[in-house]
Amino acid sequence: MRKYVIMGVQGSGKGTQAQMLAADLDMVHISVGDIFRWNVQNHTKMGAQVRRVMAAGELVGDDLVESVVRDRLTQHDWNYGFIIDGFPRNRRQAEFFLESYDIDGVIVLDLPDSEVRRRVLSRRLCANCGMDYNLIANSPKIPGRCDTCGGELITREDDTEEALAVRLREYHKEAESVLEIFRRKEYVFVVDARPAPEVIQGQIRTCLGLPPYKAETQPDKAETQPDKAETQPAKVEREPAAQRGSAGA
Ligand code: AMP
Repeated sequence: MRKYVIMGVQGSGKGTQAQMLAADLDMVHISVGDIFRWNVQNHTKMGAQVRRVMAAGELVGDDLVESVVRDRLTQHDWNYGFIIDGFPRNRRQAEFFLESYDIDGVIVLDLPDSEVRRRVLSRRLCANCGMDYNLIANSPKIPGRCDTCGGELITREDDTEEALAVRLREYHKEAESVLEIFRRKEYVFVVDARPAPEVIQGQIRTCLGLPPYKAETQPDKAETQPDKAETQPAKVEREPAAQRGSAGA
C-alpha cells in the first residue's frame, strides 16, 4: 500500500505524472481539481458552489475540500494505494490530512513562474470528453477539435492571465507552509518539472524507490509537455525523518 502526495503549481504537469504513476502501479489517482471540474461540468449543487471561486483562480473553502477528500478516500477502492494531487493546498488542509493518513512520500514539481504562464495560457480542454491539450507541444491534428471525439476545444475558465496571477501568488504563499509540515514528518522530494514527462516520471520513481517507468503505460495525451527534454537529476530535498505520522488508514 503506497500513499503519495504530488504538489506543484497549475501547469507543472502534476496530473500527468500522477496518472502515469497510478496507471502503472494500480494506484488510484485522486485529483481534487478534477472532482470539482466534474461537478461544474455536470451542473451539480457542489458545482454551482465552487464555479465562481474556481474561475477566479481562488481556493475553495477548506470545509468543502476536506469533505470531498474524506468522502473520496472512504470509498476505499485504493487497495494498492493512492496518489493525491492538488491537495493539501494550505496548512489547515495538511494538518487535517495528516490526522488521518500516513503518507509515504511527497513529490513537489518545481517550475519557474515564466514557464507556468507559457504552459497554462496555451492549455486547451475538450468541452466534450475532457481531454487536455497544449498548443505548444501537444496540439490537436485539426485546430480547435479534439483528436479523440471531435469535440470543441475550449480554454479552461480559470486559465486566464488574471486568474493565473492569483493562483501563482496563492500557491507560493501556501505551498511553503504545507511543505514545512510535511518536511517535519514525511519524505519531501523536489523534482524539476521542465524535462519531458517520461524523464520526470523516471526521476519521481528514483526518489520514491519505485521500479523504473515502462513507456507502454504512458497515457495517450500528457497534460503538459515541454518542448525539449532535459535530463537534470532530481533534487532530493530531505532525507526521511525518523518521526512518521501514526494514524495510517
Ligand atoms: P487544480 O486542477 O488542482 O489546479 O484545481 C483547480 C481549482 O480547484 C483550484 O484553482 C481551486 O479553485 C480548486 N481546488 C482544487 N484543489 C483545492 C484545494 N485543495 N483547496 C482549495 N481549492 C482547491
